[in-house]
Amino acid sequence: MSAPQRHINLNVRNLSLSATLGINERSAQLSREGRKIFRLGLGQSPFPVPDPVIAALRENAHERDYLPVKGLSTLRDAVATYHRERGMAVEGEDILIGPGSKELMFLLQLVYYGDLVIPTPSWVSYAPQAHIIGRNVRWIKTHAHNAWRLTPEELAQFCQSDPDCPRLVILNYPANPTGATYSVDELKAIAEVAHQYGIVLLSDEIYGELNHRGEHVSIAEFYPEGTIVSNGLSKWCGAGGWRLGTFAFPRSLRWLLDAMAVVASETFTSTSAPIQFAAIRAFQGGAEIERYLRASRAVLGALGDMYYRILHKAGVHVAKPAGGFYLFPDFSPFQDALARRGITTSVQFCEALLQETGVAILPGSAFGRPPNELTARIAYVDFDGAEALGKVVDDERGARLTKKAVDRIGADLNESARRIRDFLRRSGVP
Ligand code: GLU
Repeated sequence: MSAPQRHINLNVRNLSLSATLGINERSAQLSREGRKIFRLGLGQSPFPVPDPVIAALRENAHERDYLPVKGLSTLRDAVATYHRERGMAVEGEDILIGPGSKELMFLLQLVYYGDLVIPTPSWVSYAPQAHIIGRNVRWIKTHAHNAWRLTPEELAQFCQSDPDCPRLVILNYPANPTGATYSVDELKAIAEVAHQYGIVLLSDEIYGELNHRGEHVSIAEFYPEGTIVSNGLSKWCGAGGWRLGTFAFPRSLRWLLDAMAVVASETFTSTSAPIQFAAIRAFQGGAEIERYLRASRAVLGALGDMYYRILHKAGVHVAKPAGGFYLFPDFSPFQDALARRGITTSVQFCEALLQETGVAILPGSAFGRPPNELTARIAYVDFDGAEALGKVVDDERGARLTKKAVDRIGADLNESARRIRDFLRRSGVP
């Protein structure tokens, strides 16, 4: 080991750049080198930030003071109102603002002393954050036939082995990487188990507004005393690079909010002032933002459906996404044929796919799946979001895209799906 390596904290030494950001930088580099790359690696919203929110940012560009550690009080109030309108009984003082929900998750893991429990597959950064802090990560297996969703039975079975162990469970829906969501009855059943075992539940609802039917329901309604709801501007407001995340806490977990604020005060101080002022406008909502959301959902629903159909027809195991912009296909029907080509892991699969077809996606192993399981995440975001929003028809029949518009907007996505299909065909018919 080289001298500099030896001086790196053990918890960090074997980690590399987060998979999502790594594939983004690699795709950008390959594009710069002149290759046609289908950028389906990083899960970035393709849509522009809504006009009123841009205007609010412009009007507040002069804001230059450090703001309160927990966030601007008018923004905290606006976020609380937003959650109250969605069934969560919170006030402004229950809200914590941070530079991205990712940073807030890191702070939560840092201050909460207990195991991290996550379903597999789960988003790429939950587990590395726990590793950096030195927490145990406990994975709960889910199953492809259930669209990789956590069941109350699986959660209960897991908790039974050590009922009193303090644990933080993260539930993310619509899910990254699968696009799956839960019905009200399923949420109620999970909430009951969480209540029984006194779980601290972090409900990561960053894709909630992107439920394709606009029917997202927060589990906080059914487990109010133990649920923290995570949200932010990155996905539904198209503003990932603005870095603004929010946590809404129940009164009973105020001690966690306060402890996180202490660490925030010693690390990032406060979130960018102009961005917080602009975020007030985003969380206030209103007709224009509602229209933007209806259009976003219509586009994502239609394109997700198109992608799903092509893969499904090609013999790939995949569930149709219910929200967000991800698919999590399982290529195992092609396992033997791929093995003959020397492809036996999801990393090898994604590497060969990128080299041969220019389609950049992320291996299932980055989401906690076993290395030799041939799963991967497709972020179907490589299209012109502004053009797509402009093509949505929104009338008394609801928001939708014509077939012609889907074909036009989704041309590159369609091409990428066909390249995956042809790559599999070249490898051999299952
Ligand atoms: N959440 C997005 C993803 O899973 C991108 C941002 C990130 O990972 O930090 O691709």
